Amino acid sequence: MAEDFYSILGVSRTVTAVELKKAYRSQAMKYHPDRNPGDKEAEEKFKILSEAYETLSDDQKRAHYDQVGHEAYKNGGASGGPGGMGGFGFSGGGFSDIFEEVFGDFMGGGRRGQRASAQESGEDLKYELSITLEQAYTGFETEISYNAPSACSTCNGSGSKSGTGLKTCSACHGSGAVRMQQGFFMIERPCVTCRGQGQIIEDPCTTCHGQGITDKKQKVKIKIPAGVPDNARMRVSGKGGAGPRGGPPGDLYVFITVKPHELYTREENDLFCRLPITVFEAIQGTQKTIMSLENDEIEVSIPAGTQPNTILTKRKLGMPVHGYREKGDLHIEVQVEVPTKLTSKQKQAFSEFYEQLDDKKAHPEVNSFWKKAKKLWG
Ligand SMILES: [Zn+2]
Ligand SMILES: [Zn+2]
Repeated sequence: MAEDFYSILGVSRTVTAVELKKAYRSQAMKYHPDRNPGDKEAEEKFKILSEAYETLSDDQKRAHYDQVGHEAYKNGGASGGPGGMGGFGFSGGGFSDIFEEVFGDFMGGGRRGQRASAQESGEDLKYELSITLEQAYTGFETEISYNAPSACSTCNGSGSKSGTGLKTCSACHGSGAVRMQQGFFMIERPCVTCRGQGQIIEDPCTTCHGQGITDKKQKVKIKIPAGVPDNARMRVSGKGGAGPRGGPPGDLYVFITVKPHELYTREENDLFCRLPITVFEAIQGTQKTIMSLENDEIEVSIPAGTQPNTILTKRKLGMPVHGYREKGDLHIEVQVEVPTKLTSKQKQAFSEFYEQLDDKKAHPEVNSFWKKAKKLWG
């Protein structure tokens, strides 16, 4: 049974673009010539993986491949396919595009077009920070610590054991790119031996394997602004991973989520609070004191005869509006709790009380509903 591009990448035929990229990345990193110097088999495997990915990551090529099958595709079927002028695997941009597209961000790159002597930058890091609604309300400063690729202390980030440093890559003669003939086309791709750097390390540091970076604990102070929205993303420039061999550092991204509060909910800049009162308080009217998220007292006066689910709005007592000297509103929803679990004596007292009421005056809604109902339903 011949292999096909799906089994080569170890994915199912229903693989998504994201999964496909992930599979290619992990496999290609394993067989990357840089990690397997002089290993022809690994190099061949790397090439096949890249061909498989190049085909399956292109919707049109993948559809055509699925249609004609592996053998037909390899035997020139691709040239009859959509956009298929380049034939097997190398049409269009070829490897250089795949290589940069997939490895570019892994290597902290996105450095299209700057091959020789371009320094790799460090990777971007993600930090998840969960804060309380009170913290989101006031804003605060905190120090976070995380593991980040940092300059290796054995070689001071040079990647070289003895400090002899770099020598010109013999595969590309220092240009960082190699050209190869593919049918009628001459294509250029980054040199895999030196990863497009043009130079390689002669005696790699054993601690960091020539990368010049090892994981270390980093600390950084960050300031969370008042009114920070839920799911906000903060970029802390230059606090990501160190760049390999002295390259510029990546960025740190802090993803902020706001934990649910027990009494307040937030909708954009407005705050909502449910305030339960008794039937007696609803009849008589009452005065309540609630605490703001900043621990300030908020007086709430509930007038006599307040109906359930009445919303009382306090202007400008909501969340600070991020970036403005403004605040949203606070909405207090009055809930009237009907007593349950009454003793028969208490129920008796209630019915005596209700018998004294003039129903038309005490319950106009109830009265008018049944008046209409009688007319409609007879
Ligand atoms: Zn080192
Ligand atoms: Zn090279």
